[in-house]
Amino acid sequence: MSERRNWTRERLVEAVVAGDQRALARAITLVENGDALAYEVVSDVYPKTGHAYAVGLTGPPGVGKSSLASSLIRIVRAQEKTVGVISVDPSSPFTQGALLGDRIRLVDHFLDRDVFIRSMGTRGHLGGLAETTLQSLLILDAAGKDVVFLETVGTGQSEVGVLSIADTVVLALMPGSGDSIQALKAGIMEIPDIIVVNKADHPLTDTMVREIRGVLSLAPQRGWRVPIVKTEAVRGEGVEALVEQLEAHRAFIVEEGTLSERRRRNLRNEVLGLCTFRLRRRLEERLAQDDEFTALLDEVVERHLDPASAASTILERFDAGEAA
Ligand code: GDP
Repeated sequence: MSERRNWTRERLVEAVVAGDQRALARAITLVENGDALAYEVVSDVYPKTGHAYAVGLTGPPGVGKSSLASSLIRIVRAQEKTVGVISVDPSSPFTQGALLGDRIRLVDHFLDRDVFIRSMGTRGHLGGLAETTLQSLLILDAAGKDVVFLETVGTGQSEVGVLSIADTVVLALMPGSGDSIQALKAGIMEIPDIIVVNKADHPLTDTMVREIRGVLSLAPQRGWRVPIVKTEAVRGEGVEALVEQLEAHRAFIVEEGTLSERRRRNLRNEVLGLCTFRLRRRLEERLAQDDEFTALLDEVVERHLDPASAASTILERFDAGEAA
């Protein structure tokens, strides 16, 4: 009974704001499922958000992100701040708060009521992984989490979207793996705010740092100089320095006004994303049983009509219908 408590909107909102772990888990599952209740809850708690600082943590698998997150949580908790972790793995179909495999490194914090950890895979997220992540972040924000880590694997398109939600982006690399440096150099990967070279116990660490410096010197100089922090995540070595850089970056973007700019841009994307999603759904509903659409499609298939002209015809009708 208590496991599947029947949450009403009011009770869920109340429990989310109180930071109840079970309510947070439930609310995020609703978000993942695109459940209408999720939007109601977010709508109710929204005025309480804007406090959490979102830190994106990205890098190739095995670089030590989970270990870093675990060490970071320890330091942030020692500062008496509360923490949320959203671990996004677009390659994984598993979600539902199941913490599998490598996330096990976060196990030290499972019993801490002020640390909420959640994995998210490709399931659900009707409006896109970035939207789902933002909604989940808002829920953790409303629950009063001071810092939320958004951990993502790799640097594909969906991860980039997720990372755009973060206030500060940390890229973790390790000595002896040139791929990420190549990606940075080629401009495939956005220049992060902070670069960590983890596994600094490795003999090639300083070579790696020099290579990264080389790449950064090619990038257009902005106001913020991207620091390179050497860490040994497992031993917690260098993680204090990373926290200092996180705080410095935050202070910088607050001072410069980029924090509010970033957040405005993200909220704009969120609103646009939701509009796009809903318009598409409406369009699909409208066209599902539409004979004229089927006929147009047949013409496209027969090569009598090109796809763009078909789209124009449909949109003209759709607009006319909307106006009516
Ligand atoms: P993730 O896949 O990026 O989350 O990486 P993990 O945190 O799971 O770490 C991958 C492996 O690297 C694990 O076996 C860790 O114990 C190891 N590891 C993490 N940090 C360090 C480090 O600073 N030095 C060394 N030698 N190993 C590390």
